[in-house]
Amino acid sequence: MPKSVKYSDSLIIKNAAQIVSPKPGILRGEGLKELTVLHDASIYIKENVIQAVGLPEQVKDHIDDSPRIIDAAGKTVLPGFVDSHTHLVFGGRREAEFARRCAGVSYEEIARQGGGILSTVRATRQMSEEQLIEQGLYYLRKAVRHGTTTMEIKSGYGLNEETELKMLSVIQKLNKIQPVELTATFLAAHAVPPDTTKQQYIEQIKSMLPKAAELADYCDVFCELGYFDADETRNILTMALKHGLKPRVHSNQFHSIGGIQAAIDVGAVSVDHLENITDAEIELLAKTDICAAMLPGVSLFLNIPYAPGRKILDAGCIPVLATDFNPGSCMTLSMPLILTLACTQMGFSIEEAVCAVTQNGAFALGREKLGCLEPGRQADLIILDTDNYQNLVYFFGEQHIEQVFKKGRIIFDRNESWDVNFDAGD
Ligand SMILES: [Zn+2]
Repeated sequence: MPKSVKYSDSLIIKNAAQIVSPKPGILRGEGLKELTVLHDASIYIKENVIQAVGLPEQVKDHIDDSPRIIDAAGKTVLPGFVDSHTHLVFGGRREAEFARRCAGVSYEEIARQGGGILSTVRATRQMSEEQLIEQGLYYLRKAVRHGTTTMEIKSGYGLNEETELKMLSVIQKLNKIQPVELTATFLAAHAVPPDTTKQQYIEQIKSMLPKAAELADYCDVFCELGYFDADETRNILTMALKHGLKPRVHSNQFHSIGGIQAAIDVGAVSVDHLENITDAEIELLAKTDICAAMLPGVSLFLNIPYAPGRKILDAGCIPVLATDFNPGSCMTLSMPLILTLACTQMGFSIEEAVCAVTQNGAFALGREKLGCLEPGRQADLIILDTDNYQNLVYFFGEQHIEQVFKKGRIIFDRNESWDVNFDAGD
């Protein structure tokens, strides 16, 4: 059992070298270029909500009880990270396959030997809900260590009704028993199972929608050559919308086949990947409120080109960054690593990258109470062991995250035990 530490309902974090926050609202263009940075500042939290942020004398006037005090001298406070694209629930692992890849075996050869996505599908089908929950908890604890306080998780390793719904049910149960706030996405259209034709499988997906809609908020399709084309993507997502599932699209990872236009046509919330987005598609996307979610961990892990981040930013799109945590193409839960990759490989400024994993990540999941540190917002925040937020990106591969708070409650404390309060809270 995790050590249980009870704290009072209210909290003041004081003397912080920096309290850093994006501006509120949907951030694009100039709005991404500046963060609010307060020096020697305090933040007062009560009943899960930020009550006041500012200089000590400003915050003092709002305190009407005896809050727990955390001295953050020499440290930096940031909003908790929103990881808006993951595949965190899956069976098995693929380290042996990765080792073969590192030893020079080709992807095609690995697939012939029974590796690739279908090996994860087999393992996920075999695992019980309880086993998937236990493994999910293991990964969520790790995500919290990297500062993640909110996460989207997709199904997509079942490719049949029983296992797709089992995955969504696991996400719902995980959401109730641990502190990271989870959103579920139905991604049965991740691949076509080997024992059926695509047309048959699309009909199966449509028949799963009513039950999936009870367990998920979003529906996603992998729009890619050899998977689902633009018309099939539109078709599945239009049907999903009728059941109340909002659309997202895995688009332009390897080829430009019309996924962006399909996403626009169905009013998608987000298009994700974009490694092979064309200039014309970027222009189209910039005219919409669809998030442009980029996943640089995949490019690092698979050694493929990065999404053209600078072009996407300059065109005025709404940029989002996420891990895409999954056993095949991106085995990391580290949002700080994603920030460093965005800045060094994709042309993001540090400020733009921070906005993309906080305020814009929250927008991508429809969580308007999250993503920035201002009065009235939910108190999800992290404390870094450094006096400047830039070090989080600059001094990479290092654990800078000292404490993590979800709804004003400490859920990770490096100095005590990393699973402090790792339960759902009230
Ligand atoms: Zn993905």
